[in-house]
Amino acid sequence: MNRPEILAPAGSMTALQAALDAGADAVYIGLDAFNMRARASANFTRDELPEAASRCRARGVRLYLTLNSIVFEGELAAAEDMIVFAQPFIDAFIVSDWGVISLCRRHRVPFHVSTQMSCSNSAAARFLKEQGASRVVLARECTLDEAAIIARTAGIEVETFVHGAQCVAESGRCLLSHDAYGCSANRGECHQPCRRRFLIKAIDRFTDENGEPLHDSEAEFEVTPHTVLSAKDLCSLPFIDRLVAAGIASFKIEGRARNAEYVKTVVAAYREAVDAVLRGDFTQELASRLVERTKTVFHREFATGLFFGRPGAGQYTDTEDSVSTMVKCHAGRVIDYFLKAKIAQVKIEDHPLRVGDLVQIHGPTTGVQEFTVESLRRDDETPSIAEKGTWVTFPAPRCRVGDKVFLIERRDPSKRR
Ligand code: SF4
Repeated sequence: MNRPEILAPAGSMTALQAALDAGADAVYIGLDAFNMRARASANFTRDELPEAASRCRARGVRLYLTLNSIVFEGELAAAEDMIVFAQPFIDAFIVSDWGVISLCRRHRVPFHVSTQMSCSNSAAARFLKEQGASRVVLARECTLDEAAIIARTAGIEVETFVHGAQCVAESGRCLLSHDAYGCSANRGECHQPCRRRFLIKAIDRFTDENGEPLHDSEAEFEVTPHTVLSAKDLCSLPFIDRLVAAGIASFKIEGRARNAEYVKTVVAAYREAVDAVLRGDFTQELASRLVERTKTVFHREFATGLFFGRPGAGQYTDTEDSVSTMVKCHAGRVIDYFLKAKIAQVKIEDHPLRVGDLVQIHGPTTGVQEFTVESLRRDDETPSIAEKGTWVTFPAPRCRVGDKVFLIERRDPSKRR
């Protein structure tokens, strides 16, 4: 049976470590420019790239670099410089511009064609293979049946998105943010106006025969119930067995701008689901359990994307914000770690911690460690609560000085709408 790659997003070293620990087969990242997330917080620096590559190689995990934004004439030299710089560390570049494709060919680097190119049929996929692509990321608009035909007939690896945020625009090529704020999504600068609620406002004027305004000349209506342009997030766990059977080579998880616990939770869920399919013991009960687990981290309700047909009202979310069932609150920082005893010393800077609390420790080398606080100690005392401004020690998995400590709390997502 086809063994699909689970392709994780990473916007930081902490997220990359979380992806590796959760069982990703490959990770995609961005550098300082030319990708669809321009914010520095969602990108790696050039200095970090060798370390990212060496961590991936140590685990046998492939590393891809996104270079898929619009590239203008005056930027070709910078794009080429990035390819040359990154080439030793990267297994493939993810591209969407013909000029960048020609640069990849010139430097003989493997490249995947991004979903931004809207490859939606086998002829297009075959043509891209002839141009040197080793993989196509299909247009988001492809149904599962269409993806299966392309995977079977095009003679090139096919990748599809399986999880995460979706754009209302065709394969994410959208001008809303550029129109509203002058910040182009196609240059990685989207301000996400589609996620907002909208008002319909009458701008014409009804007047009587004397030119005087009539009633309702300034009518306004809030559009309800949906945030009319905001798509629900994609979740493919309930039908992941059908995607495996379709011969899709790579399952891409969206979310380079998401935090590390999102990466860890979602990658681990897809790892478990795909492994169960490959063993032959995948069930809908397992899928439901894994969906509930992915609901603990950022999402805007789930839908099946366009895998089963064109979009309808059920694909639009009612929420502007995440409806995650768990929320993390900053508690403090690790100030020491006693390796032999496996004890962390933590300075409480914000939220107090109690015995029995669920916590996460995040760090660039630690990744994400989640556990329950079994006991608290401060010298000879055993406090039941560690208040802001104090320090405390407790048993913890391996972590490092400077790592962040978070309290994880359950919440009622309906109260955030
Ligand atoms: S405005 Fe919305 S639909 Fe458009 S690119 Fe941004 S997130 Fe996607």
